[in-house]
Amino acid sequence: MLTIVNPCTLTKMPIFVLFRRQGQMSARKIIHVDMDQFFAAVEQRDQPQLRGKPIAVGYDAPRGIVATASYEARPYGVHSALSIQIAKKRCPQLIIVEPHFQKYKEVSVRIRSIFHEYTDLIEPISLDEAFLDVTENKPGIPLAVDIAKEIKQRIEEETGLTASAGVSYCKFLAKIASDYRKPNGLCVIHPQQAQAFIDKLEVTRFWGVGKKTAERMHKMGIYTGNDLRNVPLGILTQSFGKAGHIFYNFARGIDKRPVVSEWIRKSVSCEQTFERDTSNANELADALQKSIDELLRRLKKNNFEGYTLTLKIKFHDFRQITRSITSNHILQTREEIEPLANQLMAEVDYDQHPIRLMGLGVSNHHDTAPDTLLQPIQLELPFDYDDIYDVTQSPQSHS
Ligand SMILES: [Mg+2]
Repeated sequence: MLTIVNPCTLTKMPIFVLFRRQGQMSARKIIHVDMDQFFAAVEQRDQPQLRGKPIAVGYDAPRGIVATASYEARPYGVHSALSIQIAKKRCPQLIIVEPHFQKYKEVSVRIRSIFHEYTDLIEPISLDEAFLDVTENKPGIPLAVDIAKEIKQRIEEETGLTASAGVSYCKFLAKIASDYRKPNGLCVIHPQQAQAFIDKLEVTRFWGVGKKTAERMHKMGIYTGNDLRNVPLGILTQSFGKAGHIFYNFARGIDKRPVVSEWIRKSVSCEQTFERDTSNANELADALQKSIDELLRRLKKNNFEGYTLTLKIKFHDFRQITRSITSNHILQTREEIEPLANQLMAEVDYDQHPIRLMGLGVSNHHDTAPDTLLQPIQLELPFDYDDIYDVTQSPQSHS
């Protein structure tokens, strides 16, 4: 067995080398850490009068949405991404609390510094969520579950907040495990238990299965992991495209995606915030052109080559979506990027939702392109709308 090298010393080494070393290990140890009702928990921590009460973090505007609901609000059917106005109807005593993003970021930095005491292989998913590969860890603790326990305890001591952790041999199962005993949970899925666990799992809990995908699966008679495992690969790819292959593997407990730490430059991007939120098509078209100009400049400056173009849009109510498109050739000229950018922008429904921020980026460097042997599935899941909702930065849909 090869020993994994501290990634900090590997910056000059091709990335696939690191993956190969990881891939050759008999079993990886991955922890997924997810803060409980993060924004709401921070507010309740700092404003004692809110403790034990149903609160929703968000803006009380006509089109405001719930970023995070406290556990007290959830029995009323109040959850993240719900309209604030509907939330107030469902729970008349609901307290709407304005978000304090700077504070959430500070807590997030603090938590990440705890992670770094155990490993540098950290892949943040949002402010309150990250994967850690602790196969080799700095203190040399043999059991990942012991590391997860320590991390949870440290987070609570240093921030006064609770986290849930999931431990398994792959990202897919670690993520499901962290959600399994929330809040303040710790769940381990051992390799030998994985298949039985997945078989019983509802497909709605699979990573990448949002509302729309779930509906389609239900129509095909797929309700559980076991149902999914009984569907031939051909039918899955026919129905769900590339995601079909991913679902096929997930149903068998196969997910070889590595934990990709921040130090790998995964993308080049730029973003602009509008002075005033806008739904004006001309203004947005101009802004898209500016984004393309800036992106081209940065791609050149960083000498970066990637295949995937991603458009990020933040709406006036800080709801955020990302949409991506992958080309079969490197994106480096205006002729290559512009039509794709227009295509992505055409999918954004901004008539009723003024835009606050626009971002454009290129990712999927050839070094990080899936190695056919070690990464039979793609690094990024093609999420449907329900899932791309806020997955990039804020923990709104994962609290
Ligand atoms: Mg969370």
